[in-house]
Amino acid sequence: MISYIEAIKKIFGHLPAPQAKKARLDAAYGYFLAEDIISGTDLPMFDNSAMDGYAVRSVDIRDASERNPLTLEIIGKSPAGNPFPGKLTSGKTVYIATGGVLPAGADAVIPVEYTVDAGPDQVKIFRPVKKNDHIRFAAEDIKKGEILLSKHDRLNAGRMGILAAAGTRQVKIFEKPVAAFLATGDELIGPDQKPGPGQIRNSNTVVIRHMIESEGFGFRDLGVTGDHREAILEKLKDIPLPDVLMTSAGVSVGRYDIVAETLKTLGLEVIFWKVAIKPGKPLLFGRIGKTLYFGLPGNPASAAVVYKIFVEPALLAVAGSDLPFPLVFEAYTMSSFKAVKERLQFARGVCYYDNGWKVKSTGKQGSHIMSGIAAADCLVIIPPGQEIRSGSPVKIQMLEGPRVGLAETVRAFF
Ligand code: AMP
Ligand code: MG
Repeated sequence: MISYIEAIKKIFGHLPAPQAKKARLDAAYGYFLAEDIISGTDLPMFDNSAMDGYAVRSVDIRDASERNPLTLEIIGKSPAGNPFPGKLTSGKTVYIATGGVLPAGADAVIPVEYTVDAGPDQVKIFRPVKKNDHIRFAAEDIKKGEILLSKHDRLNAGRMGILAAAGTRQVKIFEKPVAAFLATGDELIGPDQKPGPGQIRNSNTVVIRHMIESEGFGFRDLGVTGDHREAILEKLKDIPLPDVLMTSAGVSVGRYDIVAETLKTLGLEVIFWKVAIKPGKPLLFGRIGKTLYFGLPGNPASAAVVYKIFVEPALLAVAGSDLPFPLVFEAYTMSSFKAVKERLQFARGVCYYDNGWKVKSTGKQGSHIMSGIAAADCLVIIPPGQEIRSGSPVKIQMLEGPRVGLAETVRAFF
């Protein structure tokens, strides 16, 4: 049986290179960039005002005070989007709005709060300003020719915004992977069916589907099949092979665990079977041609945890991410956890901040316990053979949140 770290290294050693394609910016949200983006413009594009106020020459109001206000003549206005065409000379001012272009000749803005109207084209000013006060300078954010975003950055809302501001119309992105899922088990029925004796509703497909779709990847539901070679072959033999194929159940050592044997007739090359973790020990990983194959255990907590710790990082990497693993950090546990011999445990937990990060168990930790998966927002990492007492430090991983690379993950687990 291999360790968790050996397993992720083996999986990452077999990932296909992500595939690049061109896309219009408005169709690229959620994708990972396949190129560095060089800015074609300065941001801001021109010197402009940070406040509503008056554009001035700072020397003109050097001596302004509450007791001795100075009066300037208003010669025009510079609202956002409509620059003042003239030039500011001594004793003059231009009304300016936030985002308005700084008129030629001006070197500062006095906020409207420190002024009062004194007739139709006169304003009284109560304070001095320093040169450059309340000005937002061209290129102070990004210079034309600078790297705006880097290859492997994910196009989140903020990055879509900066590309829009810089006028980027087309980007090179990595294709999103498509994953297919087949639930196996004679006992399974679909969500609309009424269970007969011994039957249960298939929930694994639902959990995996939503986890995949929450990352924006393609999902293909291959339905449910019984524990028979012919039935499984029937489902898989003619489908277009996805980037990642998953099955659930039928990979432990029971009599009916025939999924791997069946897939071998379709060309499955087994890369490993069984990992020293709990839950999820029976995980099977292999390849069918270019398709990565994950044989997930059937138990709901096992399937969900294995998806999160192995399959999701693999899908993210195939999608072009270089930070596919959840960040590991330390928290104090407010629950105790039983020792599990020789296996690294990924217990389900809920974390919160209270004078430092704290975590508590979701309760019973059996592989069949669905309420833990429903409640968890993190995994509590418990080293093999260790009993964890309440109040001790533990490492945790958020199910959603900041992500890191393979090297940092490997370090975090030692
Ligand atoms: P197996 O891996 O076939 O030994 O199944 C382990 C446990 O997971 C059994 O109790 C199964 O009934 C259950 N199980 C298998 N597939 C699913 C599924 N798709 N949804 C919910 N439970 C399942
Ligand atoms: Mg079974």
